[in-house]
Amino acid sequence: MSRFGFTITKARFIDYESNDRRISEYISEMEPSFLRCIECGCCSATCTAAGFTKFSLRELNILIKRGENKEINKTIRKCMLCGKCTLVCPRGVNTRNVITLAKEAYQKAENHAV
Ligand code: SF4
Ligand code: SF4
Repeated sequence: MSRFGFTITKARFIDYESNDRRISEYISEMEPSFLRCIECGCCSATCTAAGFTKFSLRELNILIKRGENKEINKTIRKCMLCGKCTLVCPRGVNTRNVITLAKEAYQKAENHAV
């Protein structure tokens, strides 16, 4: 087989209809500033946890919006709740509260209480 120096990656799509978006809806209701996030990544650039792990708040926000909840649970525990991200967000998102609510909502979703 000829090698052309590139490969074709497996197609990936996001199925918004079947993803569980309850956590996203819960956060948006409790902390409406979450809806202002434009996924710019300023929060990730200043994040304390990102210096030690692969944690990215920008990525977390995207996963929450998509309703990819399994991934949320894996990554959210790395946040130290220091609040630096809240200070730099250009859109005034209360990121620290978003993370706190996401943890809370995840627990409730697991207990079928959201
Ligand atoms: S800095 Fe604010 S607007 Fe930018 S990705 Fe983070 S939460 Fe969203
Ligand atoms: S609160 Fe969490 S996400 Fe924000 S800067 Fe601190 S460790 Fe990073």
